[in-house]
Amino acid sequence: MNEFRLDPESLSFTLITSKVDGCKACKEKGKEVFSIPSSHGLVRAFEIKDDVQPSKYELSGEFFKSSPADGYEEVVVDNEKHEDKLKTYTVEEIEELLAILKDRLDALNKYNLGQNLVITRAPEEHGYFDLLLLPIPRKEAKGCFECESLKNPGNREIYSTENFLVYVPFAPKADFEMVVAPKKHIGFSQCDPMLLFDLAGIIKKLSAIREKETTWAILQSGHGHFKLKFFGGKTTPYDILEVKKATINPDLLAKEIRDTKGL
Ligand SMILES: [Zn+2]
Ligand SMILES: [Zn+2]
Repeated sequence: MNEFRLDPESLSFTLITSKVDGCKACKEKGKEVFSIPSSHGLVRAFEIKDDVQPSKYELSGEFFKSSPADGYEEVVVDNEKHEDKLKTYTVEEIEELLAILKDRLDALNKYNLGQNLVITRAPEEHGYFDLLLLPIPRKEAKGCFECESLKNPGNREIYSTENFLVYVPFAPKADFEMVVAPKKHIGFSQCDPMLLFDLAGIIKKLSAIREKETTWAILQSGHGHFKLKFFGGKTTPYDILEVKKATINPDLLAKEIRDTKGL
């Protein structure tokens, strides 16, 4: 059984899972949750099972924050085959996909699934978005981090449009990282068509500037100010949330060592 555990020392979460990374659209999709026609075919969403479910242990006490680790994950697939054509999509087609994701998030917001949203688009993969909504990790701050960050002279501006600022962050988490932040405090599901069109144009431009693999992700946490990030390489939603992964259950590992090594 997969579960999230909180490390009481670093206060970072680990996902204990036996699953190895692979194409979720080919291997892990569960029941279809919706389908909608688009200009390049049917866009279909499928539930992802297992990773996101209640933890067996409610961790509480001096060194533990309470950890009811549930949430929701689905893949939104815009290509039946294992190939990604996103780089060939027009700005209008990218905007159409963003609008589908926005509507989907609107629908999911009716349920209390968690405030941490990550939607990744992995490079040259199947042509799908991996959408994850989790109540963890909780980042509690007085103000909005994104609003503060927009005023931070440490961020290295690349360019800006009417609605968005594109910059390299002061302390990037990877060799290649760019942030696209709305200039006003707004959630992804509140974007109007004008904003989505502007964002789609930026995605089209930024997707073309690097030949190597680049993942982009829509991110939003507790204070509700979304942003888009581009990362070099293939990056999963868990990497972006800084949730570590262990594929061997620690309980079983300890038992196996006890039982087989004569300790
Ligand atoms: Zn695939
Ligand atoms: Zn804000």
